[in-house]
Amino acid sequence: MKVLIADKIEEKGISILEEIAEVSVQTDITNQKLIRSIGEFDAVVVRSRTKITREVIESASRLKVIARAGVGVDNIDVEAATERGIMVVNAPESASVTVAELTLGIIISLARRISRANKSVKEGKWEKSKFMGVELFGKTMGIIGMGRIGEQVAARFRGFEMKILAYDPYISEDTASKLGVTLVELDTLLKEADIVTIHVPLNPQTRHFIARKELELMKETAYLVNCARGGIVDEHALYDALSQGKIAGAGMDVYENEPPTGNPLLDLDNVVATPHIGASTREAQQNAAIIVAEEIKKVFNGEAPSNLINLPVLDPQRQTAK
Ligand code: NAD
Repeated sequence: MKVLIADKIEEKGISILEEIAEVSVQTDITNQKLIRSIGEFDAVVVRSRTKITREVIESASRLKVIARAGVGVDNIDVEAATERGIMVVNAPESASVTVAELTLGIIISLARRISRANKSVKEGKWEKSKFMGVELFGKTMGIIGMGRIGEQVAARFRGFEMKILAYDPYISEDTASKLGVTLVELDTLLKEADIVTIHVPLNPQTRHFIARKELELMKETAYLVNCARGGIVDEHALYDALSQGKIAGAGMDVYENEPPTGNPLLDLDNVVATPHIGASTREAQQNAAIIVAEEIKKVFNGEAPSNLINLPVLDPQRQTAK
């Protein structure tokens, strides 16, 4: 078996694959070269740089599995892969703690003005009264989306002795109570939360999930944080809400357009912005590399992988174009 590592992944993942296959590391491979050489490989590992397009897939005569060492599969033509019976796997749980910790960091930075205060001190100023903050203790956290990351965020904020509300129509009251959160309707969460943090996937139902109407419901003292996906928050509406004082601040790791060149939100003092670094820790990268290497191992051993994105490839009735 031959595996192509097309984007940089942590060494541990490569060494797992080397136990079972011939591994070729070509982390600067161009799209044209990929189209020419993909036919030699049984598996390919990518992060986000390499695009596995329909054209690549059509040249992949022996490819069994495309592995994304991370969460989003926007760089893979999953439909084309499914048509040809090629499995697409990812590592959805690899970054949950890491993203939750960044969310915590952004929330604390908003509450205590850390990034603004840091900039001010480094500019030689001593503006103590300008950076009056708020405590999180006793406040209400509103989590939209109680999945892998939402759950980790809740667990961490319980330690801050906050009241935790959650909106997620797909989890039961029983699950919510085990996670120590109170399930409420979205409007209630928006009206009552001092901090609203978003952890839902981006899909047609969640595009502009938080727009003008939702922002109107929030408290003037509330903060909104999006470490999920750009596009879930309507950025024009958010800019208006922030500049008109309808909410107190926002934290963002993700944007409708990335990089967010010229995005007016970045000019606002009450916005804490990071460059889509939610999954950027050594631990998350290592988890992702290990998880996808194990997934490839399973596929090579004829077992079903745990994180299969395109379930229809397992359908015995399915006709493949191969
Ligand atoms: P997940 O699938 O485990 O959880 C998502 C939760 O959202 C689920 O519980 C689901 O029931 C809920 N949900 C779905 N639609 C909903 C809706 N319309 N209203 C309310 N709840 C809804 O996903 P996850 O791993 O926790 O990831 C959450 C988000 O974080 C995703 O958008 C993911 O892309 C993003 N993410 C960002 C980074 C980053 O670098 N910033 C890294 C990893 C993941």
